[in-house]
Amino acid sequence: MIKSLFLAGADVFRLNMSHGSHADTRDRYEMIRDVERELGRPIGVLADLQGPKLRCGVFAEGKVKLKKGAAFRLDLDTAEGDATRVNLPHPEIFKALEVGSTLLVDDGKVRLKVTGRSDTHADTVVEVGGKVSNRKGVNVPDVVLPLAALSDKDRKDLEFVCELGVDWLALSFVQRPEDVQEARDLVRGRTAVLAKIEKPAAVDAFREILDVSDGIMVARGDLGVELPVQALPPIQKRLVRGCRKVGKPVIVATQMMESMITSPVPTRAEVSDVAQAIYEGADAVMLSAESAAGDFPVEAVTTMNNVAEEVERDPIYRQVIEASRTASRATVADAITVAAREVAETTNVKAICCFTSSGTTATRASRERPRVPIIALTPEIKTARKLALTWGLHCSVTTAVERFKMAVVGAAKVAREDGFATDEDKIVVTAGIPFNVAGSTNILRVAPVQEKLIYEGEPE
Ligand code: PGA
Ligand code: MN
Repeated sequence: MIKSLFLAGADVFRLNMSHGSHADTRDRYEMIRDVERELGRPIGVLADLQGPKLRCGVFAEGKVKLKKGAAFRLDLDTAEGDATRVNLPHPEIFKALEVGSTLLVDDGKVRLKVTGRSDTHADTVVEVGGKVSNRKGVNVPDVVLPLAALSDKDRKDLEFVCELGVDWLALSFVQRPEDVQEARDLVRGRTAVLAKIEKPAAVDAFREILDVSDGIMVARGDLGVELPVQALPPIQKRLVRGCRKVGKPVIVATQMMESMITSPVPTRAEVSDVAQAIYEGADAVMLSAESAAGDFPVEAVTTMNNVAEEVERDPIYRQVIEASRTASRATVADAITVAAREVAETTNVKAICCFTSSGTTATRASRERPRVPIIALTPEIKTARKLALTWGLHCSVTTAVERFKMAVVGAAKVAREDGFATDEDKIVVTAGIPFNVAGSTNILRVAPVQEKLIYEGEPE
């Protein structure tokens, strides 16, 4: 199935650490790497930490029904709950709550308002009633919680997936930039770090969080519990735009093809939602239950991929994307990257081939959203895998090259073999001399694809 999903257009696979044992995760990871080896194409793996999710305790009857207007207490008493009270085993939460704070239970289905509190309990009134069963999730949207960004489980999972070799680490329920920094310090460069924006506090601190993250997920599932759903579209637009501006990859996630969990065709509204994310400039659109547990995983990926390709062929997409392009940084590497796009668009060049060691140059090339394909060439398999998340990159692992002429020969070979150009065509090649120094791009050549021509009277 993983192979079929990859062939249907999936670029990155998410391992959700909320489910399964480390042995399960390792098995799935190995399956993905087997497919990668078999097909000879780099595949991105993103491990998603569960994060500090609050849960209530258990009820004597397994569940209770809370009626609107009733009083309901949450406390530290581990005794089984009933219709008047239940355990909430998080002492730090009681200290942070205020009279008037809202508590959302079970993805927001039940809503409680705090009427009184101490350091060991909170009295609430039921605003929206409903069923609450054992260990349901509790969200506190309007308070920045004094929770450690990483639970003990998260720390163990983090170390495990870093050693396993995943390419991205996603952090759930980030509230402040310090939360990301804390994880970064533990990751020590072994993976790229992505912040999931699913708390109102994270939306407020988005700029600062973006500064310390390598990528962002617009995590609409939990965000839509913590905020009114109509707040999501403008937030999505703002987040995608913010990421585009700095050239960091952004994922739009959750319920994108929700009906395809049980149906082979999506609703028109879902198609429109995926299309909208692409029009906005998202790097990636994500499936959750559709592919993890649904009846039509291949159909869901195929449909998403078709929608993305259709949008990208639309002249209006080009207009929107080009109108939203912002000034690049004043560096040689960025100037070369912008020039590569301009050369490619004003001449009949078939691809932009960029040599990249850390991935920075390829990410900058992607940020330009050129009309021609970008081929990212890197000697580092880890870089190629990481870049799978970034818009429009066809990544290829090359042997380390020392001379520019050999680099051009290598780029032309990939462009030809992977079907981007023929011997009659030309490509743009960018690289940094000396090779394999991050962010050192300083040379651009418009080169013929045909090997004989590359050698004729060209610079070393
Ligand atoms: P989740 O995150 O699927 O891990 O909850 C995404 C979201 O909340 O949208
Ligand atoms: Mn979530």
